[in-house]
Amino acid sequence: MAVTVLIPTPLRPYVGGRDAVQVEAASIGELLHRLSGEHIALRKHLFADDGRLRSFVNVYVNDRDIRQLSAQETPVRSGDTVSIIPSIAGGTGGTAATEVRAGMQHAAPLPSLSHEEILRYSRHLILPDVGLEGQKRLKAARVLLVGAGGLGSPAALYLAAAGVGTIGLVDFDVVDKTNLQRQIIHGTATVGRPKLESATERIHDLNPNVRVEAFETRLTSENALDIIRDFDIVADGTDNFPTRYLVNDACVLLGKPNVYGSIFRFEGQASVFYAKAGPCYRCLYAEPPPPGLVPSCAEGGVLGVLPGIIGSIQAMETIKLILGAGEPLIGRLVLFDALKLQFRELKLEKDPDCPVCGSHPSVTELIDYEAFCGIGAEPSYDGAEITAQELKTEWERNPDLLVVDVREPHEYEIAHIDGAVLIPLGELPDRLGEVDGHREVVTHCHHGARSLKALEILKAAGFSKVRSLRGGIDAWAVNVDPSLPRY
Ligand code: ZN
Repeated sequence: MAVTVLIPTPLRPYVGGRDAVQVEAASIGELLHRLSGEHIALRKHLFADDGRLRSFVNVYVNDRDIRQLSAQETPVRSGDTVSIIPSIAGGTGGTAATEVRAGMQHAAPLPSLSHEEILRYSRHLILPDVGLEGQKRLKAARVLLVGAGGLGSPAALYLAAAGVGTIGLVDFDVVDKTNLQRQIIHGTATVGRPKLESATERIHDLNPNVRVEAFETRLTSENALDIIRDFDIVADGTDNFPTRYLVNDACVLLGKPNVYGSIFRFEGQASVFYAKAGPCYRCLYAEPPPPGLVPSCAEGGVLGVLPGIIGSIQAMETIKLILGAGEPLIGRLVLFDALKLQFRELKLEKDPDCPVCGSHPSVTELIDYEAFCGIGAEPSYDGAEITAQELKTEWERNPDLLVVDVREPHEYEIAHIDGAVLIPLGELPDRLGEVDGHREVVTHCHHGARSLKALEILKAAGFSKVRSLRGGIDAWAVNVDPSLPRY
């Protein structure tokens, strides 16, 4: 019998789509090297160029975090289960709960409830763990939701319904039709309007007692401390790594609990990061993945119900912190697999050397998170891209031009460019033989990100006449062939 390695969704394309593989090994180091030896494409996701294990990849043996040990030397035995948990972007014990609540106690006495509120919250008031005092605490509480999207939608609705007195919302986006598949706080009637307007209206319809404080801005290093300072709890529903690290660091610096949720395809993660009582996000993931390595929800897709489940967990944890009830998710990471309908829980250790919450922090003020996440430092693709209109003209002039579609077959089924050859990005390294290097090659995908990766793979393999379609098939549908459906 061998060791079972559970493969997370983002890495499954590199192991033939499987969710678990068996590996014979005596230590974690041996196991990871055998695994990436058998699955070459996996190697760059697990190891940096200098051979060390990437720090946004965490390894657990039988659900135990092994980073505090000499990770690579950790022995494994036949029958063990090893989990590889990468960070994904896309949204305490009982005593610690009391501590959080104590930190939130306002100098002012708790507010009173009107007759209307007593009737409205009657199912809370008869719960011993809430009662009149708990309901007043909810009314006094100030919760900031970063992002009014997939995770923020259910979180905002449940917090408003539960009677959280003040809900802050940070978002600068406009409601788009593709949001409605999961962002249930918005509606068809609000497509095209700012998300904050749409969300505020819906919250007030649900519960007019809630005060909404709207921040129509991107959360930045310049404004984060000022915005977060006046709130008791932050629920992070962002979809990108720079904002995740920004929210984390601001919460650690201000001593606020950060209720974390993130989603990707069919999997979600949730935890409560509260540095006073447990680890923070950086203790879990010291550094972000390189840009583009983990696809976003826009690129990788997400099941519509998933953010509903994870955002609801965030709302539940927020309410527990306010009430001081139960055991908050501090020091624990919950993993949810929707396809198996399975929850797993991993114990998180505080990293004593954490750059922001450790004993000798190096991050003592907010930094440039875009630079930290390597955004802006991406290679320049000058001259490597071609517009949809240019491609149409060149292709008419040179029918020998080869267009390679690097999307997945199910995307090809939705819409495809006639004459393009389908080779999904994950299969490209093994199917280079199907690309004729003597011809001009143009790669394309949905929006133009994966096709740049394909371009890099082809260039690295010696193909010289390769360009990538800027804006992907979406730009083609808009500018060349309006008969194609956009998705
Ligand atoms: Zn930390």
